Amino acid sequence: MDVVIPDLGDFSGVPVSELLVAAGDAVEVGQPLLVLESEKSSMEIPAPTAGTLTELKIAVGDTVSAGDVVAILDAPEPNSAPSVAPSDETRRDTEPDAAAKPGRVVVIGSGPGGYAAAFRAADLGLDVTLIERYETLGGVCLNVGCIPSKALLHAAKVITESREVPGVSFADPEIDLPSLRSWKDSVVQRLTGGLAQMAKGRKVDVITGEARFTGPNTLDVGGDTIEFDHAIVAAGSTAVRLPFVPDDDRVVTSTGALALTDVPKRLLVIGGGIIGLEMACVYDALGADVTVVEMTDRLIPEADDDLVKPLQRRIRKRYAAIHTATSVDAVEAKDDGLHVTMSGRRDGTEVFDRVLVAVGRTPNGGSLGLAAAGVNVDERGFVAVDAQQRTNVPHILAIGDCTPGPMLAHKATAEGHVAAEVAAGIEGAVNDVRVIPSVAYTDPEIAWVGLTERKAQEDALAHEVATFPWTASGRAIALGATGGVTKLIHDPQTGRILGGGAAGPNAGELIAEITLAVEMGAVIEDVALTVHPHPTLSETIGLAAELADGTITDLPNPKAGARKEQA
Ligand SMILES: Cc1cc2nc3c(=O)[nH]c(=O)nc-3n(C[C@H](O)[C@H](O)[C@H](O)COP(=O)(O)OP(=O)(O)OC[C@H]3O[C@@H](n4cnc5c(N)ncnc54)[C@H](O)[C@@H]3O)c2cc1C
Repeated sequence: MDVVIPDLGDFSGVPVSELLVAAGDAVEVGQPLLVLESEKSSMEIPAPTAGTLTELKIAVGDTVSAGDVVAILDAPEPNSAPSVAPSDETRRDTEPDAAAKPGRVVVIGSGPGGYAAAFRAADLGLDVTLIERYETLGGVCLNVGCIPSKALLHAAKVITESREVPGVSFADPEIDLPSLRSWKDSVVQRLTGGLAQMAKGRKVDVITGEARFTGPNTLDVGGDTIEFDHAIVAAGSTAVRLPFVPDDDRVVTSTGALALTDVPKRLLVIGGGIIGLEMACVYDALGADVTVVEMTDRLIPEADDDLVKPLQRRIRKRYAAIHTATSVDAVEAKDDGLHVTMSGRRDGTEVFDRVLVAVGRTPNGGSLGLAAAGVNVDERGFVAVDAQQRTNVPHILAIGDCTPGPMLAHKATAEGHVAAEVAAGIEGAVNDVRVIPSVAYTDPEIAWVGLTERKAQEDALAHEVATFPWTASGRAIALGATGGVTKLIHDPQTGRILGGGAAGPNAGELIAEITLAVEMGAVIEDVALTVHPHPTLSETIGLAAELADGTITDLPNPKAGARKEQA
């Protein structure tokens, strides 16, 4: 197989700065083979599939462009069974049923749900067609969602942190918007180009066009009929628009905000959820005066208040205003700006240079003609599925944002794997994940998973909460992040961890440990007795567990006090 340079965006003739492998090496799929270095950025070229490199056709210093063959890879037969054997008897069967006839699977949508489903299905030996209406693979997440937003949030973090290092001061940052934009675009291109390569490596047939169902086993794409044995609908979601907001260049959704055309002086963010607050964070760091308006009486209403508080405290000082319990009733486009009328806790009209509408996303299930295949779609556009991701028409499956549940990339990916395995006839393939973690990559970050304290209270569930304040964490103090918290929620009878969260730098990384604990049915003692490295923020999870366990020594121990009193 040829290893080919993917689309490099605006670049061609890019020098090879490093070779990471040599002829004869065995490589894994996705393993970086070489590094290209343009004057703007560096890019690794990954192996499109696992195999042995028989020849390298370039040397350091050579220049390459999209489509150039840089190596020859001797890959195993594409239809061979997965090489990783199940590690123990608790792992579910990952081999397709030998009796099941590999069929043709079409996957509609190439976001984190669709490409994961397509690649998994191809790895399981199915004949896969991936249909995407846009030229670039990756869906919302890679192109206009998770990835570009995190690239800009990284820049925002560096800008704000550089102003907060005790004893060190820098000159005001000079923001070169075109460079920042092209760096963000290069991050996206690196990932989307990698996807196209991986699709090629797996022999996934990629079709560009809009798919519509014409029957239970047929689709139309641009006038061509495509037949399938299984279809996996991964059509994603679209930003909700407010009907009273005028069609004006100064009114944008997250996609327009990520385009970073300029930095408005006065920015209004309608919607105090994760996406709105992440974009607010970016534009605040870049110098905009940010106002946030949120209809409910709290920001990020899904998360517990004590996790949102550190963010609220910080942005209250930085932003022009935060209006909760306030709705936007009208937006009028005038020459001097967008006149926005609000009612509720804040009443009146204010003028802004840009309005970002971030009031949620709506599923795309209604736009694919699924009725022609007999698939039920609810009035909001969600496609209902069972635990195997099957719709009411069992050979048509659906995953990701167009199905009920949190609209998150990792949920879509997990469901994509299940759908592919179901299509391949793998026995026991089922979506049995207990929890899906959520992260707001704001400054500070907020992350939570499983049962929240509010939900436990609303449903009168027996629960106990242990909250470790970062004022007692050496690492947090050294980072100037003492406003953070880590909490664990557990069942007081069994000690089983039911949920938890964190607020502070890297909360989005910390949440993985709590997620694992919930997923594995861990009890408080499991985490309390796990030795965490010191001094780290991850230690705060162990310390929250010690607090719950009554073994903490880094804080006064209320449970030890209670035991003494009982004695
Ligand atoms: C600004 C922003 C930031 C985000 N940040 C995060 C984050 O940090 N973490 C996180 O987990 N999630 C984040 N999300 C949400 C995440 O992007 C989505 O949950 C995820 O992309 C859903 O994946 P999906 O595969 O279901 O659909 P999508 O990624 O929406 O992909 C669906 C694809 O289907 C294609 N399609 C639709 N209909 C058709 C058709 N008829 N024919 C052909 N193709 C079709 C679309 O063009 C699209 O490419 C963010 C979203 C936004 C907007």
